[in-house]
Amino acid sequence: MANHKDIIIIGGGAAGFFAAINIAEQHPELSVAILERGKEGLQKVKISGGGRCNVTHAEFIPSELVQNYPRGEKELLGPFHSFMTGDTIAWFEERGVELKIEEDGRMFPVSNSSQTIIDCFLDEAKKHHVEVLYNHAVKTINPLEPGFQIETSQGVFQSKKLLVATGSNPKIWKLLEDLGHTIIQPVPSLFTFDIKDKRIKNIPGVVAKNVEIKVVGTGLESYGPLLITHVGMSAPAILKLSAFGAVELAKRNYNFEIEVNFIQMDFESCLETLKNCKQEFAKKSVVKSAQFDLPKRLWKTLVSASNISETERWADINKEQLEALSSQLTQAVFQVTGKSTFKEEFVTAGGVDLKEVNFKTFESKRIPDLHFAGEVINVDAITGGFNFQNAWTGAYIAARSIMLQ
Ligand SMILES: Cc1cc2nc3c(=O)[nH]c(=O)nc-3n(C[C@H](O)[C@H](O)[C@H](O)COP(=O)(O)OP(=O)(O)OC[C@H]3O[C@@H](n4cnc5c(N)ncnc54)[C@H](O)[C@@H]3O)c2cc1C
Repeated sequence: MANHKDIIIIGGGAAGFFAAINIAEQHPELSVAILERGKEGLQKVKISGGGRCNVTHAEFIPSELVQNYPRGEKELLGPFHSFMTGDTIAWFEERGVELKIEEDGRMFPVSNSSQTIIDCFLDEAKKHHVEVLYNHAVKTINPLEPGFQIETSQGVFQSKKLLVATGSNPKIWKLLEDLGHTIIQPVPSLFTFDIKDKRIKNIPGVVAKNVEIKVVGTGLESYGPLLITHVGMSAPAILKLSAFGAVELAKRNYNFEIEVNFIQMDFESCLETLKNCKQEFAKKSVVKSAQFDLPKRLWKTLVSASNISETERWADINKEQLEALSSQLTQAVFQVTGKSTFKEEFVTAGGVDLKEVNFKTFESKRIPDLHFAGEVINVDAITGGFNFQNAWTGAYIAARSIMLQ
């Protein structure tokens, strides 16, 4: 015997809980159930933001906000006009969770604990009688006319409406594919670059504040802070490339060259500045007189890579050495040989093809009464709270649309 509900949400993660609460709060007469395969839900929320949950980002202009989404930039513009950062802040505040903005724009609960978000969701779900069914892994989805039949590891359910919020789950993508949806092949996004190079081998922890990086042979480029790590390079300049280049870099099997400009100056201008240094600091050691506001350890390693010895003074170095140094500073090429996880945070690029989703409602264009929210669709963002904002926005709009129908 099937268990009947008005609305079933598959996936008790960020998007699933947010949608369920919004529906149940507005329509107490409807029966709303979440089917969650785990023995607990909200596991990603728990570990997110290093246990602090970076809920959203203090960017309040939709056309600016969308620029943080390598996939979804065009499609999310409309939805953000309906529900975005300010609405997220208000939503949590109305339910007793205050958010704070950090210097870089990331927003966290004032408590600095993701548990605050989890407690809020669990309390709200309970208050509005959302039935959360844990250990219910969904095995099949069958559209009925009308409604859906959903087979789980613990029985069969039927519902009038269905919201799929299963994140990056390959099994659910396969089910959706069988139902006629196109699934864009998943690839990792948000990763750091593995680089074995003697120029950076001994300087982990060094940060260059404003670098420009290009992936050689592609149109990919980014700028921002760069961190040298034990295995290569990280920080926003790299993470942005990993997200915007997710598909391209996967095709290259994470083997490619990058060209780094450490000082945001072109080769010729840099060379001119170095020639001036030669005049001005003639008797000083080159290694010991770092220029361009660069960290001393980085300067030292780039000087050494330019065939300038530790004892040489500015007056001693020749044209070739000056040119080599200008080249190291403005167009240093590094070979990337793989990728590593960034602080355990990762997202998946890929999912339900955006062409098959109506972004006014987050409803499937293929199957009536089927909605999506969160990472299950082919949307992902750079790090900073944007991935959750996609989950909140999609879930809110899907919930509103489900209620209106
Ligand atoms: C370590 C880490 C840290 C992160 N930190 C941040 C951050 O601070 N800020 C930010 O914006 N983003 C962050 N992200 C990304 C963010 O967590 C995701 O984008 C977000 O959780 C997506 O929400 P979702 O609801 O779509 O999917 P999820 O939160 O992944 O939820 C999907 C749910 O569906 C369930 N499910 C899957 N398959 C089935 C099935 N067959 N049957 C029943 N249930 C099923 C899963 O168990 C899960 O509970 C982080 C990611 C990671 C891995």
